[in-house]
Amino acid sequence: MSKTTESTSKKKTKKKDKLPKCCRRKERGGATYKYWGKNYIFDVQRAMELVQDGREPTEVEDESVRLSVKNSWIDDVHVTHVDPTKPGIIAHVFAKADDGDDIHAHVLIDGNHRAARCLQLEKPYFAYVLTEQESKDILIRKPVKSFTKVNEDE
Ligand SMILES: [Zn+2]
Repeated sequence: MSKTTESTSKKKTKKKDKLPKCCRRKERGGATYKYWGKNYIFDVQRAMELVQDGREPTEVEDESVRLSVKNSWIDDVHVTHVDPTKPGIIAHVFAKADDGDDIHAHVLIDGNHRAARCLQLEKPYFAYVLTEQESKDILIRKPVKSFTKVNEDE
């Protein structure tokens, strides 16, 4: 039953100056993810720490992966540098529509390049899902305007 002894023996010879520029971006720390323009800003660094509590990643639906990649800024070169087996991170997003409706969405805040890589390789993509509370805790900024208005500049 318990076959969860997955030991990833990655080489620890990660010389920073050897990494291509596109890969160094995250190494600097302070990674964030912007959603709906800059109306939502997530503290990805913090999210990465939160998901290291032993939770299991879930497989992301193919359609969601496609949609997420389509809506993200993707560096085609960097896609080939990432490890597609490393799970991404999904956060909940809450908003109020103009008509007062509550909107609840899931956003891939980390790992869109890995997601793109999985699409290329036709492999399933996995992601850690934050709890609703965690998703709120890592928000650096959320919209003051309602959701549908935010949507206008698309
Ligand atoms: Zn890269």
